[in-house]
Amino acid sequence: GTPICECNACFTGPDCSLFKPNCAVDVDSGNPMFLEPFWKQNAGSSGVMVAGWHRMGYEFEDGTLISKQLKNVIHKLHDTVGNANTSNKYILFGAGSTQLLNAAVYALSHHTPYSSPTKVVASAPYYPVYKSQTELLDSKKYKFSGDTSSWKNKTRSRTTNFIEFVTCPNNPDGHLNKAVLQGKFARHVYDLAYYWPHYTAIPSPMDEDVMLFTLSKLTGHAGSRFGWAIVKDKDVYDRMVEYIDLNTYGVPRETQLRALKLLNVVLQGDRREMFRFAHTIMKTRWEKLAEILSTSKRFSIEQLPSQHCAFSKQVRPPSPAFAWLKCEAEEDEECHNVLRKADIIGRKGAAFGVENRYVRLSVVNSRDDFDLLLQRLQDLVSKHRSIV
Ligand code: PMP
Repeated sequence: GTPICECNACFTGPDCSLFKPNCAVDVDSGNPMFLEPFWKQNAGSSGVMVAGWHRMGYEFEDGTLISKQLKNVIHKLHDTVGNANTSNKYILFGAGSTQLLNAAVYALSHHTPYSSPTKVVASAPYYPVYKSQTELLDSKKYKFSGDTSSWKNKTRSRTTNFIEFVTCPNNPDGHLNKAVLQGKFARHVYDLAYYWPHYTAIPSPMDEDVMLFTLSKLTGHAGSRFGWAIVKDKDVYDRMVEYIDLNTYGVPRETQLRALKLLNVVLQGDRREMFRFAHTIMKTRWEKLAEILSTSKRFSIEQLPSQHCAFSKQVRPPSPAFAWLKCEAEEDEECHNVLRKADIIGRKGAAFGVENRYVRLSVVNSRDDFDLLLQRLQDLVSKHRSIV
């Protein structure tokens, strides 16, 4: 008969209960399926039904492309979590934060003369899309120029403008990155996709000029393609809106409706239920991973410091969306190949601008995928221990 669920790659059968032996576990992409059980528990209150006649037009009644209600809920969300200061700031929406990355680059490079393109940089290891998207759009106004650290001491004496992506916590390594470049030539885009209590302590609200967030890593609805930017400066906001207007003429009304419905569930009751759920899963996953890796000399994960979280009122260790694994043995330069032989598919260091001694493994996938990853890692660690 028809399967009642979409099976993960390693499972088959009508109810996905048949395991395919020797199947490689795919933890390459950061598909945030770990939140699916929460939405199954809240299926009734989080569902959206859209009638055929609903919101057919381009604009809302006020002539804008943005739902006021959704904007208000986003203010309330940040007030509740305390991860971003939104007062006196502008908010705009994008098709995922992916679309907003370039909207920000476009806006911040606007006044640069063609003769000296703005350098777009990020601290390695960095999220690969900063590079690939900037290169795809191949503008005369801006160029991707690699790792921030190589430009660190050159900012004062020259006239080149910089746009620095600051990813906090960082994808792939979970560090709470801070801006490296300072001075009037440097503008910053804070990519805060993971600045939620699921993944990190929230010590204080961010209060930066351009901050990007996404529903993908907050509620797990990556497929709805919804992101938002919080912008301090009116000119930058106007330029970003111009980009979105010309690029897609706004975010689909269906997506905005779904985001509104989901965020209202997030903010119902004591406004903490989803955050408790998400953090408990991430915390447990990291305890299990750490336990397995603590017995290995061949594979390591950097220890990140605990911090006080103002949202949970606890001191918390980080529980990032990705494990940034390092192969310590000299011969294991191609760490992803070592893992691939053990039926684990990760993403190699080179994708993030660093050596392949590092590999990124997703910790946010479905429970089946994560359990299989643990099992494969356990086997790998035990095997290597017996060889040493
Ligand atoms: N920034 C970072 C750091 C990410 O990891 C991701 C998703 N992997 C994004 C932006 C883009 O997310 P989306 O387009 O789904 O909002």
